Amino acid sequence: MKKLVLLLITFNFLLTNACNPTVQKFASDAPENQQPKNIILLIGDGMGLAQVSSSFYFNEEKSNFLRFKEIGLHQNTPVGAKITDSAAGATAFAAGIKSFNGAISVDKDTQAVETIVEILSQKGLSTGVVSTSSITHATPACFYAHVQSRRMQEEIARQLMNSKVDFFAGGGKKFFADRKDGENLIEGLKQKGFEVDTTSLARKAGPISNKYAYLLGRDYMPKMENGRGDFLPKATDLALDYLKQDPKGFFLMVEGSQIDWGGHANDANYIIEEMKDFDKTIGVALDFAKKDGNTLVVVTADHETGGFALSSAKVRKRDDYRGLAPTFSTGGHTAALIPVFAYGPGAERFKGIYQNNDIFAKMLAGGTLQ
Ligand code: MG
Ligand code: ZN
Repeated sequence: MKKLVLLLITFNFLLTNACNPTVQKFASDAPENQQPKNIILLIGDGMGLAQVSSSFYFNEEKSNFLRFKEIGLHQNTPVGAKITDSAAGATAFAAGIKSFNGAISVDKDTQAVETIVEILSQKGLSTGVVSTSSITHATPACFYAHVQSRRMQEEIARQLMNSKVDFFAGGGKKFFADRKDGENLIEGLKQKGFEVDTTSLARKAGPISNKYAYLLGRDYMPKMENGRGDFLPKATDLALDYLKQDPKGFFLMVEGSQIDWGGHANDANYIIEEMKDFDKTIGVALDFAKKDGNTLVVVTADHETGGFALSSAKVRKRDDYRGLAPTFSTGGHTAALIPVFAYGPGAERFKGIYQNNDIFAKMLAGGTLQ
């Protein structure tokens, strides 16, 4: 709590002084103190360095990762284990705390901890969440919900309906429309002021005074190999087009969920195709940030999945360095440090090696609240 109060004071200070030209000049002399107006956080679930590297060997186009100059590493150990799951991993980013595996933005005593979405929406900023899994899945859920188990997806759907999120796009219709309690939360979303689309992204989001929900899959979105098409880059573009209307700024979280699932399945092509899609989505975010000039883009992962390695091809059981034949060491997650890529005002704060929950503070303030 002390941490949060200190953070809020720092953030307030930065927000207040952003309007003061004298301090602004000081801020430009000291880039570490720069505070962006907008924040885009892109999470590649299960994306370790080998997954990132795959974009350098298998992409047809130049990788968007080449556009980052500020790069760091985070360690993602959760409470009570050596290896994190996606719930504890995203709780660290969203709420700034280390918690136990399965936790959705609650602390180790299962108490709710305020998330970046809640903090920034109280400041009057708009917020959005986009995912290729169900929108109630562990990673996106940590940004707006507080429950002790990631499995409580129907409760998470209810909390999304009542949350401060202004825009969301992903799968998970069944957690709203086909519930054990028989309630229809699609109607509930509409009553809460959301315009809901359950068919496509074709309809553009309108004025910032409205809220938008795109629920396009019964459960998760299809994988790229099964024809998801341009859902992720397009939903990101749609979200940015809507959120940029807010004069106070915005926070947007975008998740490439299925890089993780390719890792669990030990399926290299699954990972490679999901990485291409995520790379393209990073391009959308960077193009926006470059044009805008006041947007921080942070790309990272919660953890690595599969112990994925860009191993050499084999000829008669011997290594043939002329080709690649990726391999895996596990069907689960690993404890490897995870790369962080940052662009825009405040990006310098992401250099170095730190804990996953420091990313929360680095996004919001000086990054020194450890
Ligand atoms: Mg995830
Ligand atoms: Zn996983």
